[in-house]
Amino acid sequence: MCYGILQALGLRRTMVEYVACPSCGRTLFNLEEVLQKVRQATQHLTGLNIAVMGCIVNGPGEMADADYGYVGKQAGYISLYRGREEIKKVPEAEGVVELINLIKSDEKWIDP
Ligand code: SF4
Repeated sequence: MCYGILQALGLRRTMVEYVACPSCGRTLFNLEEVLQKVRQATQHLTGLNIAVMGCIVNGPGEMADADYGYVGKQAGYISLYRGREEIKKVPEAEGVVELINLIKSDEKWIDP
């Protein structure tokens, strides 16, 4: 409980924070499902902020200061971002695994 409050106040960044767009007609994948998968894969990490955005039109501009972004690129593809920089486009089916690989390549991954 206290943890959650401190986290909300931004006093501690012990858990992963997630940002997701509200989704709309432009959303290129099942946002709830993907957010759930991303959360499951990364929630044991510490101090990261990960954004899941439905489309590349407005997503990157609305990711605020996220460390990583998972953004709908085109039908069947997503793009991974490190901060505001687009790193790579991958098939949606490989999105979560590639996100993990990106975090690993930055040495910010810890095995669960
Ligand atoms: S980021 Fe794209 S998909 Fe998400 S709400 Fe904004 S316009 Fe819609």
